[in-house]
Amino acid sequence: MRELANVNGAICALEDAVIPAEDRGCLFGDGVYEVVRAYQGRLWGFRRHWKRFQRSLREIDLQPANLEEIRGWIEETYRSSQIPNATVYFHLTRGASPRSHAWSDPLNPSFFMSVRPFADRAIVAGVKVQSVPDLRWRRCDIKSLNLLPNVLAKQQARKLGAYEALLVDNQGNVTEGSSSAALAILDRTIVAPPQAPSILPSITREYVEEIAVALELAFQQRWLSLAEFRSAGEAFLAGTSDEVTGITHVDGQAVGSGEVGPWTREIQKAYRERIEQRRD
Ligand code: PLP
Repeated sequence: MRELANVNGAICALEDAVIPAEDRGCLFGDGVYEVVRAYQGRLWGFRRHWKRFQRSLREIDLQPANLEEIRGWIEETYRSSQIPNATVYFHLTRGASPRSHAWSDPLNPSFFMSVRPFADRAIVAGVKVQSVPDLRWRRCDIKSLNLLPNVLAKQQARKLGAYEALLVDNQGNVTEGSSSAALAILDRTIVAPPQAPSILPSITREYVEEIAVALELAFQQRWLSLAEFRSAGEAFLAGTSDEVTGITHVDGQAVGSGEVGPWTREIQKAYRERIEQRRD
């Protein structure tokens, strides 16, 4: 088991990975990324992550010539790490060049990837979330490297003793977490925001939508105000890292009973079962 990196096709120990200081990812956040989990030696949901990655690349007008080769690097680097339960991070940036906002062709995109063991966060007991204004740009559907507002929001939440920030837009509606989707359950209906440019199309949320059918829960897309979200019977976070995590409190106020709700537990269980059965 080794923590590994891959820089433009070359595999190395993670601590030895080096990228150029003038990489546009570093100077401008000019790139897109994905985070994938591996369970028991297998990349989970990789096909879906790859599709979203390709979409993000198209949306920022970054089209590397060797996309299939990059896919091979990801698979090979993960295999080489021999880490059964891992977090696999990868990004592609517009490459290194003297600092200038506009870029000039030809591009030389730059790939970086890391593989680390995933440390279970032991959050089965549920988490508290803290509402924070959503200060992000208008294309949060692109999984871009520009995460400063997400980072600041999460930090603010942590300072206030919460696990995650619950982002609230100018209309007073809940968009998502700083690194997770945020969903509520009202009367046997899972309520998620519409798939708008203001939120990331979450892959875990996709699984939840599929699980809802099996559990005979309705799945509805509509905006919820912070007050509606707070007064839902149940609420939970969904994300690659957080999987399905119950929300017990919003801004210090209990959601439902103040414990992880029974439907949330069912969804958690069903999600885990899908992973074990490799049904991605
Ligand atoms: N929303 C944001 C802002 C995220 O950063 C993430 C995960 O990184 C998610 C939602 C959840 O997406 P996924 O389920 O694809 O991990």
